[in-house]
Amino acid sequence: MDFNRLFNTLNGEGLKVLQHEPMSRHTSFQIGGPARLLARPTSIKQLAAAIEACRQTDCPYRVVGRGTNLLVDDAGIEALVLLTSDLVWEDYPHHEELWASAGESLSSLCNRAKAAGLSGLEFAYGIPGSVGGGVYMNAGAYGGELKDVLTAVYTLDPHTGGTGVMSVTAADFGYRRSLFMENEQIILGVRFTLMSGDPAEIGARMEDYMARRRNKQPLDLPSAGSIFKRPKGAYAAALIDGCGLKGLRIGGAAVSEKHAGFIVNVGGATCADVLALMEAVRRTVREQTGYELEPEVRVFR
Ligand SMILES: Cc1cc2nc3c(=O)[nH]c(=O)nc-3n(C[C@H](O)[C@H](O)[C@H](O)COP(=O)(O)OP(=O)(O)OC[C@H]3O[C@@H](n4cnc5c(N)ncnc54)[C@H](O)[C@@H]3O)c2cc1C
Repeated sequence: MDFNRLFNTLNGEGLKVLQHEPMSRHTSFQIGGPARLLARPTSIKQLAAAIEACRQTDCPYRVVGRGTNLLVDDAGIEALVLLTSDLVWEDYPHHEELWASAGESLSSLCNRAKAAGLSGLEFAYGIPGSVGGGVYMNAGAYGGELKDVLTAVYTLDPHTGGTGVMSVTAADFGYRRSLFMENEQIILGVRFTLMSGDPAEIGARMEDYMARRRNKQPLDLPSAGSIFKRPKGAYAAALIDGCGLKGLRIGGAAVSEKHAGFIVNVGGATCADVLALMEAVRRTVREQTGYELEPEVRVFR
């Protein structure tokens, strides 16, 4: 692993690269030690060149969207972190349907759909992640999932540097899962198929979902959203609440008093605090209810 050579190569490609950048600045949990290197490619060419440079210097890389479903180790990440927030793919195939680059926020996408009089994405309004992170996770809420409104996912193959297109069926979506968790493909952009609708009605539904979020979720404190997946036949938050775990605290991490499915950073929480709290919650829920809670949050070590 020759990070110095990688740093110089990336600078030569015109990429602004930060060294030892705290990941707490790039995650909604506000937790995480330094990334050895961090860059924000603005084009597919830069992204592909960065990945090729990683291959040549034997350095690992990690793709990060808006960091809203991420828990990063306190020791940081010995890798190049590639943030997609500035990534724009201008050469995308033009279609009638709505198109989004991977780094766009889901809320911005929802607003564009509303303005275009396209309905179907309202459920995603208020999910704070990016389009790419949303597709990777098959994010969903209020009965909707991204897979239901996708037509195709455009990808970069990190091994060949070539771009490709994947159908919804091939992407093997399930509850908070996709093939992208296994196949290392990087999501560049997504095509959506939506229905025509009245912008005012679409906007009203979006605001209704947002109001429900504000009402139920601890949006004033850093978190990664629901920390556990919903187990079959039950709700994680109800199980945790039923075990009397609201407010349980380890270090700066606490089970939210407002929504038991959230672990919140009440001040200075470390990754170790969150992991220890997750384990304590899982053990108690297992012992008291028999349900096994699986993490929804992705952990980067
Ligand atoms: C307050 C709050 C509320 C939330 N509510 C919801 C909700 O209602 N429903 C829901 O499903 N989630 C919810 N989340 C979780 C989170 O917003 C979603 O999982 C979101 O889709 C993550 O997107 P991201 O861009 O932040 O991904 P990140 O957290 O940056 O990354 C998540 C994973 O996706 C991968 N990834 C990201 N971009 C790409 C790409 N372009 N190509 C390949 N891999 C990529 C990363 O490597 C990582 O493994 C909530 C989070 C918060 C903080």
